[in-house]
Amino acid sequence: MKTTLLQINAEQPQADFIAQAAAIIRRGGLVAFPTETVYGLGADAMNEAAVQKIFQAKGRPSDNPLIVHVSSQAMLHRVAKEISAKAEALMEKFWPGPLTLVLQRREAVAPTVSAGLHTVAVRMPHHKIALALLEQAATPIAAPSANTSSRPSPTTAAHVLEDLHGRIEMILDGGPTNIGIESTVLDVTGDVPVMLRPGWVTPELLAEIVGDVQQAMAIDELKRSPGTRYRHYSPRARVVLLENAAPELLQQTCVELLKNERVGLISKTPVFIDDFRFTAILLADSAADYARRIYSAMRELDENQAAVIVIEGINATGVGAAVMDRLRRAASTIHS
Ligand code: AMP
Ligand code: MG
Repeated sequence: MKTTLLQINAEQPQADFIAQAAAIIRRGGLVAFPTETVYGLGADAMNEAAVQKIFQAKGRPSDNPLIVHVSSQAMLHRVAKEISAKAEALMEKFWPGPLTLVLQRREAVAPTVSAGLHTVAVRMPHHKIALALLEQAATPIAAPSANTSSRPSPTTAAHVLEDLHGRIEMILDGGPTNIGIESTVLDVTGDVPVMLRPGWVTPELLAEIVGDVQQAMAIDELKRSPGTRYRHYSPRARVVLLENAAPELLQQTCVELLKNERVGLISKTPVFIDDFRFTAILLADSAADYARRIYSAMRELDENQAAVIVIEGINATGVGAAVMDRLRRAASTIHS
C-alpha cells in the first residue's frame, strides 16, 4: 500500500487535504492525523472492518480497546449513552482537550473498538486538523496512537512514517504535537470517577470539578483498562530509569554501562562524558518539557544505535505523575 504524506497547515487546514483524508475514512481506510497529545491512527468507529485494520497495522492486541474521537455533542451521543451529570461537567470544563471519558457504549459502535466491554472511551481533541477531519468525515473516529504497538508514541509525522509506512493510506503532517503524552483516561460510569491512566489533566484539576477521584491501581481496575497491562512506550534499547538519582550517580551509571555498550542519556542534569559511544539529550527540568520531548528523544537514541538508554526521572507530581507512569512502563530496570 502506498502511504501519502500531506503537509497540512495546523492553523488553517487546507479544505482539499481534509476532504481527501475524510474520503479515506468514509470508505473504511486508515489516516494518521495530529492531535494536541500525540498522532492518532484513525478509522471510522462505526465500521467494524475499518477498525480491525487499525489493530492489524499497529500489531495491537485485540483486547486493548480504542479511544473514539468526536467533534460535537451530537457525535458523542451516537457512541455513548447514560451520561452522568459529573461527566457533563467534565466535558464542559475540559473539552475539547486531553481528557478521555469512559462511558456506557451504544450498540452502533464497532464492537472491536471496545474489545468486548460495555463501555466506550471518548474524547474531543483540541486540534484544528483533528476537528476538521471529524467534521468532514461526519463520523466518530476511533484512533489509538499512530505507532507500532509497544513503541514510543509518535509526536511527529516522521515517527508515524517510521512505524507505519506502507501500512496506512495517508498521514496528515501538521508538525510536532504540543503536549506529547497521551490523554488522561477517566472512567465515569460509576458514582466516583476512576482514573485509569494519568495524563495532562491531573487528579487535582479533576477534583475541582467532581470532588473525589479514585486511583485505579487494583488489578481489577487494570483489567478494565486493558491497555495499561502491556509493555508500552518502549524504544528498542533497554531503558534504565533513575527515579531520584544524585548527579554523581547519573554520571557513574553511564560510565559503568559504557564499558560494554553504546549508551544514550535523557536527563535534566547535564552530564559530560568524552566517549563517541555516548549521546546525551538534555531536557528542561519541567514536566511539560519531558512530556513534549521524551518519546522523540527515545526514538532519536534508537536511531543512534544506543544499546541502553539511561533516563533521569522527574518529580512525580502534577503532569510529572503522567510522565513517570510512562517511564516506569518503558523501563526494564528502575532505581528508585
Ligand atoms: P491509546 O489509544 O493507545 O492511547 O490507548 C487507549 C487507552 O484507553 C488504553 O489504555 C485503553 O486500555 C484505554 N481504553 C480505551 N477504551 C476503554 C474502555 N472502554 N474502558 C477502559 N479503558 C479503555
Ligand atoms: Mg498507544
